[in-house]
Amino acid sequence: MKISAEFITSAAGPDDFPDDGVPEVALVGRSNVGKSSLINALLRQRVARTSAAPGKTRLANVYRVARGSSAPLYLIDLPGFGYARAVRGAEAAVSPAFDQVAEAAFERHPAALLLVDVRHPGLENDRAAWRWLSSTVEQRAIVGTKIDKLARGQRIRALRDIESVFEDSVLPVSAVTGEGLDELWKLIDKLASTHNPINLHHRKRIPPKEMARRRPKK
Ligand code: GDP
Repeated sequence: MKISAEFITSAAGPDDFPDDGVPEVALVGRSNVGKSSLINALLRQRVARTSAAPGKTRLANVYRVARGSSAPLYLIDLPGFGYARAVRGAEAAVSPAFDQVAEAAFERHPAALLLVDVRHPGLENDRAAWRWLSSTVEQRAIVGTKIDKLARGQRIRALRDIESVFEDSVLPVSAVTGEGLDELWKLIDKLASTHNPINLHHRKRIPPKEMARRRPKK
């Protein structure tokens, strides 16, 4: 299936997001969880930069994605929430709500995917992020990254552990082998199609020309 993806902007605050009513799916996860790798694997191009130094960015990179005959959507790549710990103390580590750009993105009530590393089930800040998402967005799901790193026997136990901690199902994926990516697209399409973007027309709209000039930052 043909996938086209276009970088739209790096958003720092509420006024920087596109405002044309296209459904948004935000990707949330700790630094180093494999978010950039997963985005690149999903889009089949290197749009997102993988991190040598985790958690450096405070910006949300926005990509417009069109896949086959599915309706277009925005993927919102939020900063890893380990970042907030470094700059705002321990309290920040437990909730992405403390991160300004995450707040701005979630004001828009996007659908959301929480990425967790399948090798580390139930980390406190992942749990806090899920509690926070559960009270903030209606359309949400958990994705388990780096499943290729676990042998068959370990997988079953790890997935069972994650599902019991989060009390929800988890979709295992690998950016390296491509496992689970078709299922993830189906999940994204489902979340996006049931997501009703709120009307934010009071916000400043970014002129398309200006958007085209902006480049992804990390
Ligand atoms: P981010 O900080 O969440 O954007 O994480 P990155 O995408 O930069 O990945 C962090 C590290 O995990 C990098 O060394 C990646 O090569 C590695 N990684 C990411 N996804 C996978 C995966 O699916 N399988 C394996 N084996 N390694 C992965």
